[in-house]
Amino acid sequence: MGLANGLDAIEVGLRAAGIGPGAEVVTTPLTAYATTLAIERCGAIPVFADIDPETACLDPASVARCVGPDTRAVLVVHLYGRAADLTGLTNLCDFHDILLIEDCAQAHAAIHSGRPVGSFGKFAAWSFYPTKNLGALGDAGALTTNDRDLADRARRLRNYGQTDRYHHDLPGMNSRLDELQAALLLERLPYLHSWTQRRRQIALRYWSEICHPLLHPLSLPSDPDSHVHHLFVLLSPARDDILLALEKHGVKALVHYPLLSTEQTALGTHRIDPEGLPNAHNHARQCFSLPIHPYLSDDEIAQVIQACNSLPEALFD
Ligand SMILES: *Cc1c(COP(=O)(O)O)cnc(C)c1O
Repeated sequence: MGLANGLDAIEVGLRAAGIGPGAEVVTTPLTAYATTLAIERCGAIPVFADIDPETACLDPASVARCVGPDTRAVLVVHLYGRAADLTGLTNLCDFHDILLIEDCAQAHAAIHSGRPVGSFGKFAAWSFYPTKNLGALGDAGALTTNDRDLADRARRLRNYGQTDRYHHDLPGMNSRLDELQAALLLERLPYLHSWTQRRRQIALRYWSEICHPLLHPLSLPSDPDSHVHHLFVLLSPARDDILLALEKHGVKALVHYPLLSTEQTALGTHRIDPEGLPNAHNHARQCFSLPIHPYLSDDEIAQVIQACNSLPEALFD
C-alpha cells in the first residue's frame, strides 16, 4: 500500500504490528536516521547491533547479543542496495520468536536466494524519495506485507485511523501516497530493471578499474542479483582529504553516513551490543560514496575512475 514516505512506512508498519512502548527493536546504527526515528516515533526503544564489515549490513552474531526479554523485532536495512544476511537473520528471529522487518528504502529489486528483498520480513518499508533507485518527483513510500490483519491496520493508521467513513478506531495519522506521485511511479517502474543493470555495470567498472593503495571499495557479492548498488561505497583511512582532492577533479563524493544513529543528539533511550559497535564506528570514519546514478555517461564514469587513480599516494600521511 502507498504511504507518504519511507519513514511513515516503517512507523505505520511497526504500529500495525503492535510494536509500541515497552518493546525493543534491534537495528543497525549505520543507516539513514529515519530507520531509528521510526522506532522512536512508535514509542519503542532502539537497540543497536554492529555491522558485518564486509557488507556494512547487520551482523547476525551481534544481533543475537542484543536480543533481550523485551525484544519484539529485528529491523534490517539492506544498506547501499545490498541484501543483508536474510538467512542468518530469519533463523535468529525464528529461534527467538520475534519479528523480522525489512527497510528496503535502498534496495528495490535486490534478490536474496532467488527471492526479492521485502518478501522475508513480517512487512517491508519502501521509500521512493527522488534519490532512491525508484524515485518519484517528491516524497512517496510504500509498505508491503503478506499479513492481511497487519495490512488492514496499516491502511487505517495511514488514514486518520478511520475504519468506516467518519468512524475512527485507532489514533492514526495522514500518510496517504499522493496520487500524482503514484501515477509517476507506475510510469517509471518498467525502467527499474534497466536502471539497476546500468548501476551494476557502473559498480563493476569502478570495482575493477579503481586501483589505489588508499582506496578500498566494499566487496561485490558473489551473487550480482543481491546488490542493486544504490550507492558505491569505499573505505579510506584518509577519507576527508580524499573528498577534497576528488572535488578538485570535479568529482563530488558524499559520506553515507558520517555519524552513527548512536552519535545523533536527537537519540533518546537506547541500548547497544554489550561488545560495542567497533565495525560500525570504523566504517563511519572511513566511508565515502562515488556517483553511481544510471544516467552517468561512460565518459563521466571514466573521469571518476581517473580522478581516483590519480590521487597522490603519499599526500595524506
Ligand atoms: C531514505 C531512507 C529512509 C526514509 O525514507 P523517506 O522516504 O525519506 O522518509 C529510511 N531508511 C533508509 C535506509 C533510507 O535510505
